[in-house]
Amino acid sequence: MVTNPEVAARDADVIIAGGGMTGLTLALALAQAGLSVIAADAEVASAQAAPTYDGRSSAIAYASFRMWAALGLADALMPHAQRIEKILVTDGRVRGGASLLSLVFDRRELDDRAGGEALGYMLENRHIRATLAAAAAKQSALTLIAPVAVTGYAADAGGVTVTLADGRTLRAGLVVGAEGRRSTIRAAAGIRTTGWKYDQTAVVCTVAHQKPHDGVAHEYFLPSGPFAMLPLTQNRCNIVWTERPAIADALKKMSDADFMAELSARFGAHLGAVSLAGPRFAYPLSLQIAEKFIAPRMALIGDAAHGVHPIAGQGLNVGLRDVAALAESIVDAVRVGLDVGDGEALARYQRWRRFDTTSMALVMDVFNRVFSNDFPVLRQLRGRGMAVVDAIGPARRFFMREAAGGSGDLPKLLKGEALAA
Ligand SMILES: Cc1cc2nc3c(=O)[nH]c(=O)nc-3n(C[C@H](O)[C@H](O)[C@H](O)COP(=O)(O)OP(=O)(O)OC[C@H]3O[C@@H](n4cnc5c(N)ncnc54)[C@H](O)[C@@H]3O)c2cc1C
Repeated sequence: MVTNPEVAARDADVIIAGGGMTGLTLALALAQAGLSVIAADAEVASAQAAPTYDGRSSAIAYASFRMWAALGLADALMPHAQRIEKILVTDGRVRGGASLLSLVFDRRELDDRAGGEALGYMLENRHIRATLAAAAAKQSALTLIAPVAVTGYAADAGGVTVTLADGRTLRAGLVVGAEGRRSTIRAAAGIRTTGWKYDQTAVVCTVAHQKPHDGVAHEYFLPSGPFAMLPLTQNRCNIVWTERPAIADALKKMSDADFMAELSARFGAHLGAVSLAGPRFAYPLSLQIAEKFIAPRMALIGDAAHGVHPIAGQGLNVGLRDVAALAESIVDAVRVGLDVGDGEALARYQRWRRFDTTSMALVMDVFNRVFSNDFPVLRQLRGRGMAVVDAIGPARRFFMREAAGGSGDLPKLLKGEALAA
């Protein structure tokens, strides 16, 4: 057998910069399909799973969860997953209560899906991170190196050389940027981003409450931005409270008692007594889309490629769709004897994902603009729009199917099918 010396000299088939939720999901998908993978993260996995690292919880679409199930993660994730049975969207006013115009998405309307599936699942990011890290540790074709930052890369005809902050260099056929919004791989490729900052910061925390939430997620549209109460396991909710940055800063710094008084004015009394169940976090919000998702022997996924407003909890789901599309493009190319960094495979990935991500980012942007204000005319118009969608069953079902991520040209993993090794 003739071995290509350039391929033989590689440390791995693929190097992934960033071992976050998208990076490790891709690493597992590729390793399970028979490729060797190195994922490098600036932070060790145990620190990423600590309750103080990331206070967010993610609304995981049905299709995204199906991919994790296909990768063998369902048993580990399920004990932490809260089914979303219903979503109530209301145009509200602080202390003025919710408007009568609300929009209800009820999973029972999607009874065509097998087993009475939920609209989605709420999962704390720390549990997702811990589950991915544990699965990565068991996968022999996958090496996770941390803590070390990736500082850049250079591509040539035979492969890529990836540089690490500790001075090491690693060789592979393909490098993937999965290191979030400040991607060093994207910068090294000279790819610019377009976007803007929102004059909004999301204050995030988890609360415990007396009465069961019955799997109902609430989203109130307040003039400063959306206020979401997202159901978690064990009578808890994750709060995503969007405010102007100065107010968000004050909310983060004030005493627990003052914060709870402000929170209660929005949260209402329907779940009984409410108490804080963890630290408060603040996330400044912005829109950011990379002008290209690929370069020779390089691809971007997740927030490194696109960061969207969290108004509908879609950012990670969009990133997981990148993972499924990129994994399938690469594995299909390798299976027919092409190199792992094949340019046509990367072009297929970009065609698959760029339109979907850009349109999703812009739709979220428009939603945020229409709902985060108190102009009387817009209030009236959006109230009417919500009433129309609420009154028309097929429109509601369309939005539910879109949010579940189960429509369009789905890669195999999102359909719950494994990429055969
Ligand atoms: C308030 C809020 C609520 C949200 N809610 C939802 C939701 O309900 N549903 C949803 O789908 N999405 C949601 N999102 C979006 C979601 O959190 C992000 O889209 C998701 O975290 C992106 O994952 P990622 O793996 O691409 O990037 P990141 O989570 O940013 O991970 C990047 C990883 O790379 C590492 N890293 C960074 N730089 C380097 C480097 N130079 N070298 C090596 N490693 C590096 C980091 O340590 C990290 O582990 C929300 C976002 C916000 C702000």
